[in-house]
This record gives sequence, C-alpha cells and structure tokens, in this order.
Amino acid sequence: MALLVMKFGGSSVADAEAMRRVAQRVVAAHRAGDRVAVVVSAMGDTTDDLLDLAGQISPGTPPEREMDMLLSAGERISMALLAMAIEQLGVPARSYTGAQAGMRTDTAHGRARLLDVQPDRVRRTVEDGAVAIVAGFQGISTDDDITTLGRGGSDTTAVALAAALGADVCEIYTDVDGLYTADPRIVPSARRVTRITIEETLEMAAHGAKILHLRAVEYARRFQVPLHVRSSFSDQEGTWILVGRPLTEDTMEEPIISGIAHDTSLGKVTAVGIPDRPGAAAAVVGAVAQAGVAIDMIVQNVSTSNAETSDISFTLPEADGRTAVAAVRALQEQMGFADVLYTSHVGKLSLVGAGMRSNPSVASRLFSALADAGVNIEMISTSEIRISVICDQSDLEEGVRSVHTAFDLDAEEEAVVYGGSGR
Ligand code: ADP
Ligand code: ASP
Ligand code: MG
Repeated sequence: MALLVMKFGGSSVADAEAMRRVAQRVVAAHRAGDRVAVVVSAMGDTTDDLLDLAGQISPGTPPEREMDMLLSAGERISMALLAMAIEQLGVPARSYTGAQAGMRTDTAHGRARLLDVQPDRVRRTVEDGAVAIVAGFQGISTDDDITTLGRGGSDTTAVALAAALGADVCEIYTDVDGLYTADPRIVPSARRVTRITIEETLEMAAHGAKILHLRAVEYARRFQVPLHVRSSFSDQEGTWILVGRPLTEDTMEEPIISGIAHDTSLGKVTAVGIPDRPGAAAAVVGAVAQAGVAIDMIVQNVSTSNAETSDISFTLPEADGRTAVAAVRALQEQMGFADVLYTSHVGKLSLVGAGMRSNPSVASRLFSALADAGVNIEMISTSEIRISVICDQSDLEEGVRSVHTAFDLDAEEEAVVYGGSGR
C-alpha cells in the first residue's frame, strides 16, 4: 500500500467536469488500495481574475496582507468542490486550508517561505481511510496571518506535504504529458523526457521552464522526494525525476541534452563608463543586492564610451527593473560613471544536459544554430550542465526551435497541450 501525494494544477480543475475527472482519478487510486493526499490549485484562471479584481479596487499596491487573504480563497474553492466530487463517488474526503494542514511560513506576504510543515490532521485523515485535500500555495505565518508562496506555489505545497508525510511519490498532474525537451507551446515537436535528474530539472526550472515551481524542485532535492510529472487528461506515464541518483549505467543511453528552457521575463541594466579599478563591480552588484534584487547574469567589458573604463551589464527579473536602476543610479555620482541604461524584454535561452559537460562541441553547435536563426547573442553564461544566452525577446521562440532541431531533439509526433492558458 503506497502513500501518494497527487497535485492538480489550475487547468486540471478548471470547471465542474474537470473537477469530476480529477475526482475519478483520485478515487481510482484510493480504490486500488493507496492512501491519498491531494493538493489543488485554484480553478483555471481564478488567481489572475482575483489579481485583476484587486487592481480595480486598489490600483497601485494593495495591502499585502489582504492580497494574500484574497488569493488564498482561490484554492479554498477548489479544495471544497473536489472534496464534494470525491464524496459523490462514495469515498470520504476532507479538505484543509494551508493553515489547517500545518504549513507554517515566514511573514513575507506574496512570496512566503515554508518554515515548518506539521500535517497532523492530514496524516490522521489519510490513516482513517479518507482522502485529504489540501489547498495549495498557502500557509500561515509566524504572526498567524494567511500567506501565499508566490505564483505556481502549489507545486511547493505538494512536495512539502509529500516530504512531511514520507510519501512514496509526489505526482504533479498538469496539462501536458510530462517534462518535455522544450515548452511544447513553443516547440510542437518537443519530445517527452522519460527520466531526468533532479539537477537538470533544477536548471530547467531556474531558467524559465515553468512546468515546475523552482522551490518545489529545490525542496524535492533536499528531502529526496521522488517526483512524477504527468497529465491529468491522459493515462500516459509522464516524466520521472530521479532524486539522489546521478546518471548511471541504466541512464547512460539518455541523450546528452535534456532540454531547452526559455525565459521571457527578464530585463537588463547596464552601468556605462565605470572607472576601471578594484571594487567597482562589488559596489554595483552590492547595491543591487542591498535593494533585494536577485541578479541573474553579469558581464563586464571594456566600455563602449571610453577604453579606460568598463561597462557592467546584468540581467534580472523584469519586475525588479525599476528598483535595480534606482539602486545603481544612487552610486553614479560617487563612483563617477557615465550613465545607467535599462532594456526591457530581454530573452534567455538555456540548454541543459548533465551529459554535456565533457562534450566540447555543444557550445559551438548551440551558437551556430542561433546564428542560422539570425539570433544575435548579447551575453553568455555556463555552468557544468547548462549554457545560457541572452538575446532579444522577439528572437527567442525562433531561436528555441532552431536549437531544438540542431540537437536532434525533434520528435515525429506533435506534443499534446490539453488545455489551460499556460501562464
Ligand atoms: P499547472 O496549472 O498544472 O501548474 P503550468 O501552466 O504551471 O500548469 O505548467 C504547465 C505548462 O508548463 C505547460 O502547459 C507548458 O506550456 C509549460 N512548460 C514550459 N516548459 C515546459 C517543458 N519543458 N515541458 C513541459 N511543459 C513546459
Ligand atoms: N493558483 C496559484 C497561481 O496561479 C498557485 C498555483 O497554481 O500553483 O499561481
Ligand atoms: Mg504550475
């Protein structure tokens, strides 16, 4: 008898019919003898709709505490309806908010981090032979206020619950049949990956493949939670994410490249004409970190304006652009540099694969494929299992398709995207 955590994303519970389909799947697992805890997201685009509504009532910055109270309601609707649908099929089910499920977080509204997970009630419910349903993406802070974990955070709730319950597997049900070699919405010929290491999955998630919340993958790695990403719309086996297992003989036949992630949510800041002396980069990057902005990629070059000076450019989440520019501008007079420039709509393409570290031809093949697609590379960064390039956002999709083909990743059949808006 296995203990399963099954997580269903928004498109899997978008309406009453979808909700009934999910209930049937949960009941089938329960009837097969497994103990089942479920995590649900808000129905369809509910979270976006609630955000819009808040924007109409409170333009600018609505109070964070109330925003979390509002957004957490989306998942509460889903959990109660799913419990009803499961009861309809003759299996007892009880729903719990994040707070009731023991999800204790810090006080950072909108991006709260889990501090402690004590799902006693969930455990008792499951041991009683009922299905427990937990609202994703939310918790209760150390100040006893309702918090949310950030967009896409239900994946993290699911993995944290699976870790705390000691579940055998955490199944992430979504609107595609697993993790693909690229986003199937951009590359219809993307290929489903059958198995992938957690390190590669981390790189994919960290660099824009939004199929899994990055923090969920980090959590799964830390607590060794096996993940199975699959579709709630089909019975196909999905993608197994291997935890604590490096590539070994049985996985040696896997291709060198596991996938291409792309990110369209970046901006780029350039400080122009910085006097070339030790400590300059530390001052610029330090000021941005002080402002609470996480920098993605950094390059320093001899300045375009004066050879005695240098330019420092870095990429960052677009949403943090204004804060970062202000932080760098505050240094301008004191450090004596010429200007601060900001570019929005920057794109990033990342090629990920644990097998590519010992293969020197990978980078040249990547750059040739981008050149063939007419993509101008602005920045490059590498890790042991990833090469990322920054380019104009409007070139990104074409670049991803060209690189996908150049690495022989194209499948014969088109990938199926079952539903949802994909945002
Ligand atoms: P859910 O609502 O189930 O959480 P998401 O919309 O958050 O679903 O994530 C699923 C989407 O992730 C897919 O519809 C797909 O467009 C996108 N995606 C991005 N990169 C990949 C990838 N490499 N493999 C599969 N899906 C991907
Ligand atoms: N409903 C939340 C969102 O749309 C959380 C989630 O679905 O994971 O971001
Ligand atoms: Mg998601």
